[in-house]
Amino acid sequence: MSDVRNVIIIGSGPAGYTAALYTARASLKPLVFEGAVTAGGALMNTTDVENFPGFQDGIMGPELMDNMRAQSERFGAELVADDIVTVDLSGEIKTVTDTAGTVHRAKAVIVATGSQHRKLGLPNEDALSGRGVSWCATCDGFFFKDQDIAVIGGGDTAMEEATFLSRFAKSVTVVHRRDTLRASKAMQERAFADPKISFVWDSEVAEIQGDPKLSGLKLRNLKTGEISDLPVTGLFIAIGHDPRTELFKGQLDLDEEGYLKVSAPSTRTNVTGVFGAGDVVDHTYRQAITAAGTGCSAALDAERYLAALA
Ligand code: FAD
Repeated sequence: MSDVRNVIIIGSGPAGYTAALYTARASLKPLVFEGAVTAGGALMNTTDVENFPGFQDGIMGPELMDNMRAQSERFGAELVADDIVTVDLSGEIKTVTDTAGTVHRAKAVIVATGSQHRKLGLPNEDALSGRGVSWCATCDGFFFKDQDIAVIGGGDTAMEEATFLSRFAKSVTVVHRRDTLRASKAMQERAFADPKISFVWDSEVAEIQGDPKLSGLKLRNLKTGEISDLPVTGLFIAIGHDPRTELFKGQLDLDEEGYLKVSAPSTRTNVTGVFGAGDVVDHTYRQAITAAGTGCSAALDAERYLAALA
């Protein structure tokens, strides 16, 4: 059985590494599980990040994450490129188990496992991520000035992305599987009133085209089977996100969409000594800077919790 650590951090995006940096600088010697395949989190799958403060000329996503990783290591964070597969968070000493079956113990746990954007599941989707294909208008809209863009989805997020993008784009085409939107009435009305936004109903994306950059889509009408071309240089996929909380079901309170519940503005979960940060908690902002911000809050909350135990 391993020693009891002060704090274990699960996740290695901006939230996890920031929590690692702060707890390391507080001499808490954090143990960080980065994930077996996707160490560095969501920004490892993108190119330019222009909205993380401190980088006047922008920075590539993977480089930003390498910097965060190195910064946390510099102050003594112990990083392990593995997944946590089970947890027991109920007692005063929490346990987490890695893929080799090794049990790690700690007085506090910070959950920073992020969320996974839903994909269309088409060939080319990953290859063109950051090359025309995006899941975040706030992050990438600026790169698509005066371009023709497609937004996939029919909910509030899709309408929000479409109306936001119409500020920059030449045109925005919303492609939706049904003939009515799921979005709230107010969001729908805003989108319908926008002269730059048009709709393709009852349709799905059959093919994402382009090499090395997105050049267009083939759409399939689900009622007639007809295939049509949509020449676009931007594709925003807005069909939802899945928070990575499977591991915590039955142990931590989750909301109806599966996001981890915390007593905001703190990062405390319903279980004493367990804190949540980043996109696993947040279905509103979903930005690197907000994830880093709550990662900092979780570290400070854990630090105060541990100080009170001593
Ligand atoms: P994530 O970055 O998702 O990291 C979570 C980490 O936890 C992952 O590494 C995962 O492997 C790990 N993990 C999960 N489960 C386990 C487990 N059981 N055991 C161990 N590890 C686990 N935001 C911006 O501000 N600017 C941008 O330009 C921008 N561009 C983006 C481009 C793309 C393509 C995407 C997808 C997102 C972009 N975002 C951008 C959003 C930003 O990436 C996220 O808001 C941010 O990464 C969330 O950070 P996080 O730390 O909460 O989670």
